Amino acid sequence: QLKETAYLDKLSVAGQMAAAIAHEVRNPLTTVRGLIQFLGKETEDTKLKEFSPLLLDELDRTNKIITDYLTMVKPADARLEVLDINDILSDVKSLISPYGSMHDVDIKLEPIGDFPLIADAQQLKQCLINLIKNGIEAIEGEGVIHIYLYNSTKHDFTFVIEDNGKGMSHEELDQIGLPFYTTKSKGTGLGTMITYRLIQEMYGKLKYESQLGVGTRVLITLPVAEQTDWKGGA
Ligand code: ADP
Ligand code: MG
Repeated sequence: QLKETAYLDKLSVAGQMAAAIAHEVRNPLTTVRGLIQFLGKETEDTKLKEFSPLLLDELDRTNKIITDYLTMVKPADARLEVLDINDILSDVKSLISPYGSMHDVDIKLEPIGDFPLIADAQQLKQCLINLIKNGIEAIEGEGVIHIYLYNSTKHDFTFVIEDNGKGMSHEELDQIGLPFYTTKSKGTGLGTMITYRLIQEMYGKLKYESQLGVGTRVLITLPVAEQTDWKGGA
């Protein structure tokens, strides 16, 4: 089944307030973390010594949730440039391969073709890493992530990140990209939401195709830069 999850572009007033609160909460959190770290080191109290690493872990997790959330609400200002998708993908492959090896997952990257696109390199890499990471995490045992060109037109091109992991049901597919939707014990449920948001800002599209027990394909469509226009503008 092919499904296009609705873009999460309607950040409500409540969402903006949540972002403001998230931002404010971070400062006291940093203070508390520093104190616990200090006390854990200096104290003679065995209980405090024993539990302070746990407290630090939980605080780090809290901080990660807030950081991810804020990235989604207010991504850093994009630095647009002309990019070669093959360069981006081979960088991403080098970055994520160690994580793949840890999980017995091979990453197979095929040349995508010569499609100049205009985007922020950091943001695009972050998106692709989020997607590939999810693929790796969906694979139990050994597996493969396959990245290849799907099709192209004069205006855009579509490539695929495919995994042979556990796949998703209709119900799961409906929820992917919703804030805090996660099926992982240590997930934040924000990665896909951020990815949707960033790809949308690049005038791109994301589609999921998935089958339980077979795997998942993520189709990423990005516009091809009109070289002459870009040169004229730059
Ligand atoms: P997180 O990875 O922190 O759980 P995400 O937003 O990245 O948050 O993903 C949300 C959920 O979507 C995951 O917990 C998982 O259940 C599901 N999911 C995402 N990508 C895949 C995939 N390639 N295969 C199977 N399930 C996936
Ligand atoms: Mg994820």
